[in-house]
Amino acid sequence: MNEFTDRVALITGAARGQGRAHAVAFARRGADLVLCDRCTDSSAIAYPLATAADLEETARMVEAAGRRCLAVRVDTADRLGMEALATRAEEKFGRIDIVVANAGVSAAAPIQDCPDALWEEVIASNLTGVFHTIAAVAPGMIARNYGRIVTVSSMMGRSSAPGLAAYAASKWGVIGMTKSAALDLASYDITVNAVAPGNVSTPMVHNDALYSMMRPDLDAPSRSDVEPVFASLHAQRVPFLEPEEVSGAILFFASAANAHITGTVLPIDAGAAARVSA
Ligand code: NAD
Repeated sequence: MNEFTDRVALITGAARGQGRAHAVAFARRGADLVLCDRCTDSSAIAYPLATAADLEETARMVEAAGRRCLAVRVDTADRLGMEALATRAEEKFGRIDIVVANAGVSAAAPIQDCPDALWEEVIASNLTGVFHTIAAVAPGMIARNYGRIVTVSSMMGRSSAPGLAAYAASKWGVIGMTKSAALDLASYDITVNAVAPGNVSTPMVHNDALYSMMRPDLDAPSRSDVEPVFASLHAQRVPFLEPEEVSGAILFFASAANAHITGTVLPIDAGAAARVSA
């Protein structure tokens, strides 16, 4: 259970949802945590993002598991902010061993109606943010000759759906970046792998904007109205996975023992990837 004792894990988008589940999973297995989240809404995103209180709650949960925690409000789109966070974390804990580049947003619009603001927000948070996260931690990992980096793509990083030009582009991009970074860092015992989740039960999916997009025929669709539509995206007919199911895959990639698995993509998607040819 204490496989990660005295390891230090940095998780972006850690205030809630999957990021929180990953933080708690690492803390319960002995890691100290560096938590990052922007904790502010975006005018381009139709649902609320996390709050400072959410980030404090994740930190409280990490500390309740008996581990140390540095929680900082940073936007991953801010390169200097991410570099300053890496420096601060290394000063406090001595190193960063594990990184989960998880922060992201979801937005949809047909490409012919897609505003620049939507495109820029999705690419900044989901793609540039992952680049900044890896770029900020890589120098320290290279110097220490050790690292486990996990990026968060999506089943939409290997397929697509109407309205998802920006989101799908960002998540396909994460996979390309992951593979290239794996090659760049291969000589330093640093692995870089991606997870590609299906529908995960978090505030990113449970919001009125997405429910209305999934059921445009209804005025105010409820969770039970949208569940069949979400389930149809998976091969196993469950509408949603739990965040902890993704944590399991992330713990696997983050293990010191998995030193020679790098540049891979692991779907956690109730079989959705089985429908995709590549
Ligand atoms: P969520 O909205 O609950 O959590 C995302 C977190 O990231 C929020 O706390 C938000 O404040 C933070 N964030 C967003 N942009 C940020 C930025 N630029 N800098 C710092 N923090 C930022 O959603 P989630 O489901 O936990 O999403 C986690 C990751 O999983 C995202 O990358 C998402 O695209 C991906 N994903 C989600 C699903 C799903 O169905 N929920 C499926 C596949 C992939």
